[in-house]
Amino acid sequence: MAPGHMIPMLDMAKLFTTRGVKATITTTSLNVPIVAKAIERTKTRGNGVVKIDIQTIEFPAVEAGRPEGCEATDSRTTHEKMSTFISSFKMLRQPLEQLLQNHHHPHCIIADMAFPWAIDAAAKFGIPVLVFNSTSIFSTSAGVSMRQYKPQMEVSSDSEPFVIPNFPGEIKLTRMKLPTFTDNKYVKAFFSDFAKEVGESEVRSYGVILNSFYELEPAYANHYTKVCGRKAWYIGPSGKESSIDKHECMKWLNTKHINSVVYICFGSLSNFSDPQLMEIAMGLEASEQQFIWVVRKDKNEKEDEDWLPKEFEKRVKGKGLIIRGWAPQVLILDHEAVGGFVTHCGWNSTLEGVTAGLPMVTWPLFAEQFFNEKLVTEVLKIGFPVGAQQCVELCGNDNPIKKEAIEMAVRHIMEGEETKEMRSRAKELGEMARRAIEEGGSSYSHLNALIEELKALHS
Ligand code: UDP
Repeated sequence: MAPGHMIPMLDMAKLFTTRGVKATITTTSLNVPIVAKAIERTKTRGNGVVKIDIQTIEFPAVEAGRPEGCEATDSRTTHEKMSTFISSFKMLRQPLEQLLQNHHHPHCIIADMAFPWAIDAAAKFGIPVLVFNSTSIFSTSAGVSMRQYKPQMEVSSDSEPFVIPNFPGEIKLTRMKLPTFTDNKYVKAFFSDFAKEVGESEVRSYGVILNSFYELEPAYANHYTKVCGRKAWYIGPSGKESSIDKHECMKWLNTKHINSVVYICFGSLSNFSDPQLMEIAMGLEASEQQFIWVVRKDKNEKEDEDWLPKEFEKRVKGKGLIIRGWAPQVLILDHEAVGGFVTHCGWNSTLEGVTAGLPMVTWPLFAEQFFNEKLVTEVLKIGFPVGAQQCVELCGNDNPIKKEAIEMAVRHIMEGEETKEMRSRAKELGEMARRAIEEGGSSYSHLNALIEELKALHS
């Protein structure tokens, strides 16, 4: 599973154990060491009782048309490769049923949204399934309207805006910003069918768990339960356990002034093309801001790298830091020196930015990220869009956003006129997020209510 699904799932398992519930993570061999390490890390941080078991099921790689032992997509994934990969998830149903048959009779299963078939597997054993939607309440309920009314069919071009019908806030989108936007008919059909299946699983399941909190999106939470008629629990933000705490960048940040550094990261999946990386580098330099920029590139032996302007790193030394690979994002965002976040609007990153109380530059790339952008910029009003107009392939973008737009957006959240207002709204939301998970807060109470309801089912 992608980190964006696995991290909140692990955090959620830990959350349940703190309320006296026994949690078991069921995953495939490749993921076991990652999960085990994350559990171990929580224990060593002294977070009370954390007893999470792991059950392994085998991913039928060969049957799914992949090399023996290969359970993942590669780093240059296209939408087409991703769709074949996702369609092979169904093959996990049989091993899951086998596991439930042989060993394990939990009182409830929480299944990631990508595994709608888990509901049918569990039904054989009378086990209720909660679907975990790793996105906002906003985009989950927008999905209901989109599937029901299909407003994208009413416009004559991909760039003509339409309003999401029967949905609070007059939210406008275009076909180019939908997760299904692609020229490839097969891929388009696949993702439409998959979204339909996921949407239907919300109805067929016992209910839906979301990593968000009521006060962040009250209009959409009410809409989802009252108008869409779904049973849902909002229990986030689910945690900040997944970051590694020792990283050179933390020392670097300690030397910087409050709100003086902008953090740029596009999640765990996206790979920009070299021309786009070049524009980002030039835009950052032109913005004259201090920055930490996470790039999925290995260090090159050469003095200069093709994707960076000549002598870039020399010029920005002391002012900007490039992290190649995995950054301790949550810790960075929470550091007082960080004053802004350039994000691709993946839901975990967005929520982490909200919790850290940061204004954001929104730069959605694919999946439901354009919906999350709308939430951040138009509803919460704590973001400024860089101007991304269409969904791109996971492996890159042939039509780069120009350095001028990047410079302007970064300046806007770090030093612009509206920055103060955005920052104070963001801080307020960050406070709300903290209160939601404290004893008596909305997410805390939602989780209690859910646990009590599940207990009553079995008494
Ligand atoms: N993340 C991180 N370090 C990185 C990149 C990502 O810790 O260098 C974490 C980030 O904090 C978030 C998750 O990975 O929790 C990414 O999830 P998100 O939903 O934002 O985006 P996705 O990767 O699914 O596109």
